[in-house]
Amino acid sequence: MAKQETRRKQEEGAAGLRPDYFRGLNYLINEQPDKAIEVFVRMLEVDSDTVETHLALGSLFRRRGEVDRAIRIHQNLIARPTLSLDQRNQALLELGQDYMRAGLLDRAESLFLELIEVNGQATPALRLLCDIYQQEKEWDKAIDMARKLEGATGKKLNSLIAQYYCEIADQARVQKDNVRAAQMIKRALSADSGCVRATIMQGDMERGGGDCKAALQTYQRVEAQDPEYLSEVIPPMLGCYHALENPTEMMDYLKKLVQKYPRIVPISALVEFLRNQYGEHDAMVFVTDHLQKQPTLTGLVSMIDLQLAGSDGNAQSSLLMIKEGIEKLLKENPLYRCNHCGFSGKSIHWQCPGCKTWGSVKPIQMQALPCMQSKNTQRV
Ligand SMILES: [Zn+2]
Repeated sequence: MAKQETRRKQEEGAAGLRPDYFRGLNYLINEQPDKAIEVFVRMLEVDSDTVETHLALGSLFRRRGEVDRAIRIHQNLIARPTLSLDQRNQALLELGQDYMRAGLLDRAESLFLELIEVNGQATPALRLLCDIYQQEKEWDKAIDMARKLEGATGKKLNSLIAQYYCEIADQARVQKDNVRAAQMIKRALSADSGCVRATIMQGDMERGGGDCKAALQTYQRVEAQDPEYLSEVIPPMLGCYHALENPTEMMDYLKKLVQKYPRIVPISALVEFLRNQYGEHDAMVFVTDHLQKQPTLTGLVSMIDLQLAGSDGNAQSSLLMIKEGIEKLLKENPLYRCNHCGFSGKSIHWQCPGCKTWGSVKPIQMQALPCMQSKNTQRV
């Protein structure tokens, strides 16, 4: 026995690791992961000190997209009777993530619920359950988990919870259940009074119900919440002012906005308004003055537009060409961009399709001429 013990120690080498371990690593390096798993799993039967290695290996396989292998490793781990309770919970959490990756959301869900029940790895389990319920659009359950997560971490998740309420409101509006929609919007705003999405929805509903005065007041709140979203509310606000036949107030509001936010939507709205209300001359005076103070592509297009009306022949076709060129430039730019991952697109997403962050996709603010700055898009 003494002889055997000496030999075993020699075999273990300087790092105290078994030759099996190196054989397993060798298989991995030679990209024979199945053989490597076999060796590692055999080792585990002898020795459960290597649990950490197995967990690391399993999550490595999952991240590489080899979910079947990850599942095999984690299932093998869980089957070991020698695991400590903590190690078992850790392996269960990993296995749940494997299932999520494989699209087996029901299985993942029941594993995570089990972990919360026994209060092992509860915080990451709650976080992953939020992800699952988001994917399944089960917003009530997502809210429940987010509230529990708040309790577990002590960190407020108000803006996330407000987005979940907005999702329920959206569903209710699709089902034409306006009472429930209004209720959910109210809850969203009481969770997060700065929720732009809920405010826009509230304004849209008031406008849809014919109460333009209330809608205007609601839309106006967006400026204080986040002026980056102004471009979303200016068009419906114009509709409200129009319905209320209140051009003076509308002009004052637009002028105030243009001064504070010299951007594409307020400028074109004001030019359009001046043109319709007071004619080409007034619109031209505004555009010339604006271009002198702050050269913008939108201002330029508006000016060309106004000049076009009074021109003919060669001048007119040249102006038309310039206008079309600039408009093409403006159109080629995406309208919305995620300030978290850079995803860009032509329509607004309240949850980024790229990185799944909520409220990170915002309208891009066109401000200055490309020739005057290195970028033709700029956020304020
Ligand atoms: Zn993103």
